[in-house]
Amino acid sequence: MLKALHPDLGGDKEEFLKFLAWYTEQHAKDKNFKAEVVKRLPSQGNYVYRCEEFTLEEILTLKQKTLVLPVEKKCPDCDGTGYDRCKSQVCGNCLGTGLIETLSSRSKDKVYVPCPFCGGRGRVQRVICSTCLGRGTIRDELRVVVDLPLGLEEGDYLYLPRDRFNLPQDVYVEVVIKDHPNFKRVGKDLILEHSVSVWELLLSDFIEVPTLEGRERLATSDLRISQEIVLKSRGLYYYERGDLKRGDLIVKLRVIYPIDLPLEVKECLNLAYETYKRLHQGG
Ligand SMILES: [Zn+2]
Ligand SMILES: [Zn+2]
Repeated sequence: MLKALHPDLGGDKEEFLKFLAWYTEQHAKDKNFKAEVVKRLPSQGNYVYRCEEFTLEEILTLKQKTLVLPVEKKCPDCDGTGYDRCKSQVCGNCLGTGLIETLSSRSKDKVYVPCPFCGGRGRVQRVICSTCLGRGTIRDELRVVVDLPLGLEEGDYLYLPRDRFNLPQDVYVEVVIKDHPNFKRVGKDLILEHSVSVWELLLSDFIEVPTLEGRERLATSDLRISQEIVLKSRGLYYYERGDLKRGDLIVKLRVIYPIDLPLEVKECLNLAYETYKRLHQGG
């Protein structure tokens, strides 16, 4: 259902907003989401931490994100031993003979037993593995696709429990929200500054402004009264006493006036003004 509605795929904005509202309700009931939003890191325990930038689209419109996580995995060249499997050196314990001299407990004679250090082979694998430099592990990357939950705020941590994501360790991703070219974040609200020409404001019935869920139609009759329109619950998500809430989207219009006004246009405007005055005085 979400796929067909998503603004990225040209879904209907109103339907998507309805879906978001439904999702928000569900989210409050169903805490068993895969990735969780937590406010602080655990004070102890072994986990992977990383910082990641998220776009407003990612945190507000239920997107997926591929996280590339650093992990340590067993070195395949030395099988985790840290020593080169192919190269060996002379055993220092038996000096390469593979045998060591000892006294028999019964006869008190000298006997030879296999060297316990090299297992009687006379050589030991003690050349450091060049792949892992003796650590036995190598750095690797793990790609995890995460369905992003709503309600991520700057400084939150996205917690990926190891068992749910099939990871070697728990992962905590600190959330940094990227600045958006159109929408400014102010507290829980988003501010959209939108330019509109005075002609459009006077001559069109509606103008369209971009929102994260799709384009929004605003009546110019409203915009001529106030150049600031508040779209309720279209801002940032946040938690308030366990409930998922949403701030507002405030559209601030900047009216653009023509810089050059040709005489012909000015005459038309004069005529328009005279007509306007006449109609208003008459009415
Ligand atoms: Zn190795
Ligand atoms: Zn030996």
